[in-house]
Amino acid sequence: MNSLILCNLRWNVLRKERINLTDMEKLFEKTSMIMLLLILTSLALPTTVYICLSPGAKKYHYDKSCRGLNNCIHEIKAVSKGTAENQYGLELCGWED
Ligand SMILES: [Zn+2]
Repeated sequence: MNSLILCNLRWNVLRKERINLTDMEKLFEKTSMIMLLLILTSLALPTTVYICLSPGAKKYHYDKSCRGLNNCIHEIKAVSKGTAENQYGLELCGWED
């Protein structure tokens, strides 16, 4: 009787360990998912571009010190690429494509 209880206890401990391992695996899986999500989110983040707030400006620039921006005598503004394209109707600078 005593050995049966002991055996049962040992089995429970083993089972517990197995459950713990599964939890670890789940946690690892979850962590990988979060990492993957973070990578995807960072990729989906809007790209910042620089535009010259001149009425004649037609281009946006990835590089703030781009030669295309050197001529800008107006304010240089950092906006998302989508804003530059859709709201300002600008195209990528010819020096940077
Ligand atoms: Zn440029």
